[in-house]
Amino acid sequence: MKAGLVYTGTREIENGWVHVRHGEIIEVGSGPPPHAGEVVDEPNCVAMPGLVNAHDHMYQWATRGYVADGTLFEWLRALYPVWARIDADTVRIAARAAMARLLLSGCTLSTDHHYVFPHGRPGIFEALVDAARELGLRFHPCRGSMSLGESKGGLPPDSVVEDEDAILAHTEAMIERYHDPEPGSMCRVVVAPCSPFSVTPQLMRDSAVLARRRGVRLHTHLAETLDEERFCLEKFGRRPVELMEDLGWVGEDVWYAHGIHLSDAEVDRIAEVKTGIAHCPSSNMRLGAGACRVEDLVRAGARVGLGVDGAASNEDANLAMEAHQALLLARVRSSPRSLDARTAWRLATRGGAECLGRDDCGTLEPGKCADIACFRVDDLAHAGIKDLVAGLALAPPARAQTVVVDGRVVVRGGRLLTADEDEVARDIAATSRRLAG
Ligand SMILES: [Zn+2]
Repeated sequence: MKAGLVYTGTREIENGWVHVRHGEIIEVGSGPPPHAGEVVDEPNCVAMPGLVNAHDHMYQWATRGYVADGTLFEWLRALYPVWARIDADTVRIAARAAMARLLLSGCTLSTDHHYVFPHGRPGIFEALVDAARELGLRFHPCRGSMSLGESKGGLPPDSVVEDEDAILAHTEAMIERYHDPEPGSMCRVVVAPCSPFSVTPQLMRDSAVLARRRGVRLHTHLAETLDEERFCLEKFGRRPVELMEDLGWVGEDVWYAHGIHLSDAEVDRIAEVKTGIAHCPSSNMRLGAGACRVEDLVRAGARVGLGVDGAASNEDANLAMEAHQALLLARVRSSPRSLDARTAWRLATRGGAECLGRDDCGTLEPGKCADIACFRVDDLAHAGIKDLVAGLALAPPARAQTVVVDGRVVVRGGRLLTADEDEVARDIAATSRRLAG
């Protein structure tokens, strides 16, 4: 792969190249490239590490545009009954749309936090894994869960919560079937109860024990809204982070989505224990949840990645846009020097890889996975722009020109090679209409 500018994550190499073999980066350099069987030449592009999506709910691609002006709890209460109608087919179609959009935006590694498993609808988790294989996305599916229904003081209706023993058994079965811990892995399974207001403390504890016994990671929503903080204080007498400490949910094998409402001490504690934060600026702004203290977390040395979050609270899945939003939102919170473009790209690449536990992803260096995103800088939006790396964060590209995952070209000329984009769009339109009832 040759490009006008190769941005490795730390170095910027003009007329650079990345030499790839068997899905792995062998060498990065400039000048005449080594001989290669296949050459992708993008002289008008910036090539950078493939973007990493650290938080998502792909099934929500089928429920975009609902409760356009509500808070998180209002939005959730309206959507739970719609989500209760999903099945494996809905999830497959929604995931194909979400993954297609992610790949087209330059994302090469994504998690998905799936926590809606309506009774008697098998095959949902399997549908997610199959979609990622089909489209060629490196994938970390989270087996999410909800067990605390309304009748027990939780937020979701009883119709969408599951029995806790069944959750744990199914989670372990999915780890057994799909989890690949090896370097270069295309699929790793994560244990992920949904949130403090939709599962019991016992399920959180049991999930942590299961994950550590199997050597897999833990993920949940935390400190997203002040409503959640009030819920935790009223029901458990603890702030969200305190509750996680009680339940064994801290450490470098854990990452939280959002982490907005944190005290100074909590910011320091999260950095100290190396727990990750997936910052989702578009979703947070869409729901008016608040602004994550990204610059404070970064300064404290915390692991911070970026996520698009589910498309019901972001309506798109463009990681470059999230880098842009993170940059601007941090500046609204404090000053134009609070977050610079290169740090925003670091969050969108290496920061997300750290949240997901991937030391083999997130930079363009020898020995790393060959996951590369190329963005045009000769199009109308970017032609002539000074400082290409900063320019791409300030004017985020709508789509990538070329995307390589595991050494395989999956997007070329801005078009997806692994699925028919127009067919994916037609399918999701029909499914969204059906689900709306
Ligand atoms: Zn979420």
